Amino acid sequence: MSGKVYLVGAGPGAPDLLSLRAARLLGEADVVFHDALVNPEILAMAPHAKLVAVGKRCGRHSTAQAFINKQLVDAAGKYRVIVRLKGGDPMLFGRAQEEIDALAAAGIATEVVPGITAALAASATLKVSLTRRGVARNVAFVTPRIGKMEKASDWLATAVSADTAVIYMGAGEAGAIAQALMAHGRAATTPVALVECASLPAEQWHFGHLAELEHLAHHVGPGPAIIVLGDVLRERVQAATLVQEALRRVV
Ligand code: SAH
Repeated sequence: MSGKVYLVGAGPGAPDLLSLRAARLLGEADVVFHDALVNPEILAMAPHAKLVAVGKRCGRHSTAQAFINKQLVDAAGKYRVIVRLKGGDPMLFGRAQEEIDALAAAGIATEVVPGITAALAASATLKVSLTRRGVARNVAFVTPRIGKMEKASDWLATAVSADTAVIYMGAGEAGAIAQALMAHGRAATTPVALVECASLPAEQWHFGHLAELEHLAHHVGPGPAIIVLGDVLRERVQAATLVQEALRRVV
């Protein structure tokens, strides 16, 4: 048997945000290796497949990447359609390259199926365009999270200078991120939004300014959350602040 491995983007969570191709491949899959961020309703779209959790969630047990690579290579010897299902888009902060390279080295056919990344799901739910004429002509997707032995990346300089910055895997250290951004020149008054569980029923948003980011992050629950910052959010943050003030007066 020489199976093919499909690296498939599961999108931000809502099953109907999967691509048609992703849904078709799940239906055909013999085995699905999925990470912990994937919604069970999406896994249910693979009725014939053996489901293998190789999940990564910050702070919890995760399967070592080398072992995941080996499992994928071994599966190609046993199954025809192997789906490696990853949250959002596989090619953003998903360690897809390591898997693609390991599979290529073993001579196994692969294909990548894109998914909707968290930044775009957050932008959709906020109804705030990440780019806007006269306000934002560039967007940066960054993460302060780096692996062991890895050199510190220049995410900070990028997040300071980008018109719109979207920070993945940062909600747990929001206070330190805000301090670092302000220390490197991003204004304390920069509008920010924190979006948790974008596209899912548990979705929540919190608006404010960079100086308040740590406080906003205290309201975030256990779901995945993303930070968006930049002037594109200014009107949205102003409106939310007015509503919050009005509510405070009433209560
Ligand atoms: N490949 C994924 C990102 C994996 S890194 C993608 O393209 O979206 C995991 C981080 O993505 C989380 O820490 C969080 O910052 C973000 N994330 C994933 N799903 C999310 C969701 N539904 N809502 C908000 N943030 C999400």
